[in-house]
Amino acid sequence: MIDFKLTREQEELRARARAFAQEHMIPYAHYYDKTGEFPRPIIQKCWDEGLMNLGIPKEYGGPGLGSVEQCIAVEEMAAGCAGMTTSIYVNSLGAEPILIAGTDEQKKKYLRPLTEELRFISFACSEPGMGSDVAGIQTRVKKEGSHYVLNGSKFWITNAPHADTFTVFATLDPTKRHKALCAFIVDADTPGVKTGRPVEKMGHRASTTSSVVFRDAKVPEENILGGEGTGFVTAMRTFAMTRPSIAAFATGLGRAAMEYARDYVQKREAFGQKLQQFEAIQFKLAEMYMKVEASRALYLKAAWAADNTPDATIPASVAKAYATDAAMEIASEAVQIHGGYGYIDQYPLEKLFRDAKLYQIYEGTSEVQRLILGRHVLEGYEPAMQTLPKWYNKSPPAD
Ligand SMILES: Cc1cc2nc3c(=O)[nH]c(=O)nc-3n(C[C@H](O)[C@H](O)[C@H](O)COP(=O)(O)OP(=O)(O)OC[C@H]3O[C@@H](n4cnc5c(N)ncnc54)[C@H](O)[C@@H]3O)c2cc1C
Repeated sequence: MIDFKLTREQEELRARARAFAQEHMIPYAHYYDKTGEFPRPIIQKCWDEGLMNLGIPKEYGGPGLGSVEQCIAVEEMAAGCAGMTTSIYVNSLGAEPILIAGTDEQKKKYLRPLTEELRFISFACSEPGMGSDVAGIQTRVKKEGSHYVLNGSKFWITNAPHADTFTVFATLDPTKRHKALCAFIVDADTPGVKTGRPVEKMGHRASTTSSVVFRDAKVPEENILGGEGTGFVTAMRTFAMTRPSIAAFATGLGRAAMEYARDYVQKREAFGQKLQQFEAIQFKLAEMYMKVEASRALYLKAAWAADNTPDATIPASVAKAYATDAAMEIASEAVQIHGGYGYIDQYPLEKLFRDAKLYQIYEGTSEVQRLILGRHVLEGYEPAMQTLPKWYNKSPPAD
């Protein structure tokens, strides 16, 4: 049976996240965007209200919610402020490798504290020389006695200067590419671990992004996730679980842009009429609405697959690629509908436009999603027509 209705619990969660976004995010979104300050008071409030770390299982102190619920909450919060939501959600990204590959001991030690007080865990995969090509990681790791020693640099790491813990990907031998990757849990106060100055960004300015440098950083051997050589699979499985949420982020942002546009066309006049009376404007709103609806359907399907199937990679890539492109297009059209006001910071449109761009880049670019999907169509997908007809121009059989 297919059922598109949310459960009562899911509706309640959506209502709580929506109220949080309206009361605690939207009023301050402009301030944090302008200043680039880390919105710690807002994140603290989010943690206090139990809207953070939603995927941590009950046995480790969390609410143990599934991907569907996380996505529902994320759509609401991203409609409030994309940058704040990135700072909030990155804990789920940082924790996912532990959920996937961690031992019970590791989960107790590193997941439970996230539920006891506001703490941050960051996901450190990308480097100055690579982002898309995860198998090309250059950060080195060497086993020395009972420790692993890390050397190298990570870049674009969300929340890095605030992180208590990192999940880090490093290679035993870069020539062996994906076969040599390992994942580790690294305490941020480990000697030899240093974060850089936050970088200035186009959008998501309420999230902090910086480098992390490892210089002979000694990590206890019990902090390896999985085993040696399993890091690539852990990274890919992580993305399959978290990409539905990026699609939900994009849906929330696109929805907000559409709603601002809807409001504006009911008030603004041109040529003696309200903008809403022009069919060209109505068509733009219709396009936006179709894209929001399709994005939501796709992220829900992907999140369902993450919760209920062994591998959500394909639906996750479909949702991420579609919803993030859609959000960019909706934001662009919403700016257009606002004319000059869309371009200045007295209205929220220019911020939505800047924020939308990141969704097409982080957690696998739009091109990377298409690489995954192109390969799937050619190699994984099972055609519905097992044998294709040889002739298309036959006459119908006689009665
Ligand atoms: C604000 C921000 C926050 C981020 N947060 C994190 C984080 O917390 N943790 C983390 O690990 N990373 C993070 N990232 C990094 C992000 O995931 C990478 O920037 C992203 O994966 C792209 O990698 P890249 O920038 O190296 O681009 P590249 O991989 O150099 O790609 C450049 C361009 O080439 C295209 N391209 C690359 N390979 C192919 C190909 N085979 N075929 C076709 N096109 C291709 C890409 O799609 C892209 O358009 C963040 C980035 C930003 C900007």
